[in-house]
Amino acid sequence: MLIACTAASFAQDAANPPKTLITNVNVFDGNSETLTENASVLIEGNLIASVSSGTLEAEGASVIDGGGRTLMPGIIEGHSHLALSGVTFGEVVSGLASYQTIQSTVIAEQMLMNGVTTTRDMAGEVFSLKRAIDEGTIPGPRIYASGAMISQTSGHGDFRLPIDRNPGLGGPTPTTDLKGAGALVDGVPRMLAATREQLRLGASQIKLAIGGSVSGPYDPIDTTQFIPAEIEAAVSAAEGWGTYVTVHGYTVEAVNQAIDAGIKSVEHGQLLDRATLERMATEGIWLSIQPFTLCSEPNLTPQQNAKQAIVCQGTGDVYTAIKELPDLKVVHGTDIFISPGPGIGVSEQVEQMERLLDWFTPYEILKMSTGNFTELLQLSGPRNPYPGDLGVIREGAYADLLIVNGNPLKDLAAVTDRDNIRVIMKDGVIYKNTLE
Ligand SMILES: [Zn+2]
Repeated sequence: MLIACTAASFAQDAANPPKTLITNVNVFDGNSETLTENASVLIEGNLIASVSSGTLEAEGASVIDGGGRTLMPGIIEGHSHLALSGVTFGEVVSGLASYQTIQSTVIAEQMLMNGVTTTRDMAGEVFSLKRAIDEGTIPGPRIYASGAMISQTSGHGDFRLPIDRNPGLGGPTPTTDLKGAGALVDGVPRMLAATREQLRLGASQIKLAIGGSVSGPYDPIDTTQFIPAEIEAAVSAAEGWGTYVTVHGYTVEAVNQAIDAGIKSVEHGQLLDRATLERMATEGIWLSIQPFTLCSEPNLTPQQNAKQAIVCQGTGDVYTAIKELPDLKVVHGTDIFISPGPGIGVSEQVEQMERLLDWFTPYEILKMSTGNFTELLQLSGPRNPYPGDLGVIREGAYADLLIVNGNPLKDLAAVTDRDNIRVIMKDGVIYKNTLE
C-alpha cells in the first residue's frame, strides 16, 4: 500500500497544492452511461481541477498513465456499521468498546481497499474512527456518522436481557447505550435529548428505528415503532441543526407514519408496496436499500431467521418496482455488521454488489453506488462534514476516484474483483497504485 501524502500535508501547502495528472483514461462520471474516452483528469490538492476529453498540461504535476483503463468515482456505501463489524453479537452487547474500535480500523481499511471511499454509517460509535481517518492517522473511507441508532423500548435497538429493568423505570443504562451504538428512549423529551446528543458528537444525520427488525429480540416485523410525536420531535431537532432523519423501516405502515412525521430517507424498505414507493418518488424521499436475498443465515437465531425469511421475500419485488419508477431516489448499501470472527474482511460488500445483477445492469448498480449519492449526502446541509461533491467525476468535486481494468459499465468485475482496481485515490491521496 502506498500513502503518497496525508491530509495534513495539504493543509500545510494550501497555496501550492500537489498536482496529479491522470492521462489516457475513459471516464465514467458517476451518472452518464457514456464514457468520456481518451480523457485526462487533473487533481489539485484534494479536488478535481479539470476533466478534459483531450490532453491537459500541468507543470509540476506527477503523471499517471491510465493506459486506456476506466477512471470512475470511488464507491459509496449507503449503509455500514463500522463499529459493529468484525466482532460477534456478544461482543457488541457485552464486550469492551476498545476491541470494537480496533476491529473497526481494520474493516475501514479493508473497505477503502475495496474501492469504497465514502460510507454512510447507520449506527455505531464511529466518531473517533472518523476523526482519525480524516486526520490521516489511519486509512479508511469518509464517514457520514449517525452515531447511536435511536430506538424505543422493545424496539429494534432494545438488546437488553429480559431481566434487565428499563432505564426509564430505574434500571441501568443498556450496554449498547454505554457504547454509543444505541439510544433507548421513550417519549418526546428523551427523544429530543438522544437526537441532540448525536448532533453534539458530530452526527451528519440522525437514525431512528421506526419499525420491526430482523435482529431485535423483542420486535415483530409488523410493528410500528415510536408514535408520530416522538418521530416529529427528532425531525424538528435534526432540522434545527440543518440536517435530516433517516429511518430503519421495512413495512408500509411504519414507513408511511415516519414520512408523515417528516423523515427524508428510508433504510431498507424491502416490504414496501407500490403505493408507498410511488409516494416516496413523488415526495422525494430517499430509499437506501440492500440486497437481502438470503432468507436464512447461519449466524442468526431461529427467531431472527423467521423474520429474515419475511424480509427477503420482498427484496425482489421492491427491486423490480425500482426499475419501473425512474423518479424514485435510490442508493445501494450493504448493512454489513456482526461479521463472525475477528478481522473478517468485507468480501460480502463485493458479493452484495454482484447480487444486484439479478435485477440491474452494471451501469445502474454503479450509479446507485456513486452518482446517486451526490444529492443525498448534501441533505446533511451545514452538518455535512465534506461539503463538496462526492460520487461524481467533475471539476470541483472531491478527488475520490478509482482507475480500473476494463469497462465496469459492461462488466462489473472491473470493480468487484479487487485486483482490477489499480488506483484508489481519496481526497487527492493515493492509497493504491499498481500501475507503476
Ligand atoms: Zn443497519
